[in-house]
Amino acid sequence: MSSDDHELRVSKIRNGTVIDHVRGGQALNVLAILGIDGTQNEQVSIGMNVPSDRLARKDIVKVEDRELSQEEVDVISLIAPDATINIVRDYDVTSKHRVERPCQVEGVLTCPNTTCITTEDEPVTSRFEVLDDGVRCTYCGTIVRDGIADLIGSR
Ligand SMILES: [Zn+2]
Repeated sequence: MSSDDHELRVSKIRNGTVIDHVRGGQALNVLAILGIDGTQNEQVSIGMNVPSDRLARKDIVKVEDRELSQEEVDVISLIAPDATINIVRDYDVTSKHRVERPCQVEGVLTCPNTTCITTEDEPVTSRFEVLDDGVRCTYCGTIVRDGIADLIGSR
């Protein structure tokens, strides 16, 4: 079966973004990054644990009428480093690129260390250095490998 056949498992969208090759089980975390919880009438299709050539199993997230900011793509790359971002316009994929892990992310993750300067009332924006297998707070050195998605939400 080609990957095109796999694509058909979730409905085609007219305009929006398809986030493909998300690691199996991470689709809901991708939605959390995008701030999608179903309360804003967003049209979203999700395929979970779809067989994939590149990954043993993958998730696919399709979001109608939405294109992602670079910041959102950067954070998605932390939990889905193999993801492909497809921009769809009028049912055609107009651009397709694999996410690139940034060197650092600023202002998108909350440091889990409650005594970190970024979690106190100081006007300090959180900043994490991206490691091969996690992220490290630039200020207090706390390293997070699992549960990165739980740190999202300092915006
Ligand atoms: Zn910290």
